[in-house]
Amino acid sequence: MKDLRFIFNTKLRDNISEELKSFVTEYIKDGVSFTEKFKNETYFPPKDKENEKYFKIKWRNLKEIYVNIVENKCPICNNSINTLNKGSELDHYRPKSKYPSEAYNYKNYIILCTVCNGSSCKHTKFPLWKNSEKSPLLFNPTTDNPLELFEIEFLINKYGQNILKVKENKSKKSEYMSAKAKETLKVYKLNDISRNDLMRTLSNTLIEFATAKYRLNALNKADKTNIKNYNRIQNIYKAKCKKQYIQVKEMGFSNFIENSQFKIQEEKLKYDEYKSTI
Ligand SMILES: [Zn+2]
Repeated sequence: MKDLRFIFNTKLRDNISEELKSFVTEYIKDGVSFTEKFKNETYFPPKDKENEKYFKIKWRNLKEIYVNIVENKCPICNNSINTLNKGSELDHYRPKSKYPSEAYNYKNYIILCTVCNGSSCKHTKFPLWKNSEKSPLLFNPTTDNPLELFEIEFLINKYGQNILKVKENKSKKSEYMSAKAKETLKVYKLNDISRNDLMRTLSNTLIEFATAKYRLNALNKADKTNIKNYNRIQNIYKAKCKKQYIQVKEMGFSNFIENSQFKIQEEKLKYDEYKSTI
């Protein structure tokens, strides 16, 4: 899961790199001209020959910019994506079949991998909370904070494989948020056995980061008077976490670890590696 709210949120946009800022600026500029050009179109894609040509170029540009913004990773499942025709899908958050007026609204676009946008996952699904158009039940990376809705857990399955489980964040209060988290997990089948792509695409670096962060958190809570060389050990973990976060910060789900919104099975912890560090 990725947090892409900076795209339309000026305050968050101030904190991103110059390189990403230029992508986002270009994206918005492209999107505005695109939305303006097709504001009266009712068909998708446009039927007029001249418009169709313009549409194809702009659509390709938007897709390329979007793929760059998400660093070639699906913002839902972290699967690798690319700009090729079948490498990713520039999807309509509100499906154009149900919301034709949203077909050319650039703020309605999200990039997805072909599995997440496939017929067994999102496709044209768009569930609503109590039938309210204002309360969609699917996580939108450009407007929602993933940390408010979800938390993650690293597990080992019975075959000894690494599994990443995405769970509802139980600490939130609203009934709507809870329903939104549950429905998103259901629609994208994020914990389904058929989606074993989820963990495969996560590098060991992410697990190592989670392990170091877990150790640091445990150390921070421990009684320092009982631990020999407490400050030295704490500094080692702090440095390790900092170094590993730099390596994984563009990766989906890394923000959950940075914010300590994760659980990890004890068996996952690599004791030997850490013993040798200390
Ligand atoms: Zn995906």
